[in-house]
Amino acid sequence: MTVTLYASTTNPGKLRDFSVAAAEGGFLVESWPRFAEIPAPDENELTFAGNARLKAQHYSRLIPGLILADDSGLEVDALGGEPGVRSARYASDAGFEPGGDANLTPDERNNLYLLSRLRGIPRRSARYRCVLAVAREGQVLLTAEGTVNGEILTAPRGTGGFGYDPLFWIPQLQFTMAEISLEQKHTLSHRGRAFRALLPGLKKLAG
Ligand code: IMP
Repeated sequence: MTVTLYASTTNPGKLRDFSVAAAEGGFLVESWPRFAEIPAPDENELTFAGNARLKAQHYSRLIPGLILADDSGLEVDALGGEPGVRSARYASDAGFEPGGDANLTPDERNNLYLLSRLRGIPRRSARYRCVLAVAREGQVLLTAEGTVNGEILTAPRGTGGFGYDPLFWIPQLQFTMAEISLEQKHTLSHRGRAFRALLPGLKKLAG
């Protein structure tokens, strides 16, 4: 019997990353049909693991079965791991207002802010990190994490992906995350890697 996990997201890119990795282990990842109607918790923890656990506990009290929650973001070594859990709101938290174009998207603002923080700094190593937590009835049963290493460029390249992808250079591929195909991204994504790390524990749970 195929075991289904309900993901605490409706983001199609994230669901796809999880589904590709889940299918390899005989699991199905879906969004709960009325997920949008459930109030979201405040993601106020200081670590990805804290936020993933908090979301898994919250949603598994409201949705039956196994709940999969994630938290992810970018860590830049020269910035002490920033933006980290603040990845989505890096520029707005800092009150960063780039001059000129007022129509920038939040992702574009975050990228400009990141570049401004790294100006003149030669050390560019960084990684995407994803932490997953699986819970049932308010109890966290499993956690796992996955990372992808890269470097932050000095200017964006490519139009695919989202978030920090145009600045995230993958040395082995000689492309940014915004220049590779979706298939390639799903294969190497931090979310897919985190899910693969969950598989042994999931198989025991399902067994
Ligand atoms: P979330 O809280 O897991 O949805 O992700 C937080 C933020 O991390 C996103 O808004 C992005 O800025 C960044 N992020 C996470 N995963 C990726 C990715 O695969 N590519 C680019 N940015 C990402």
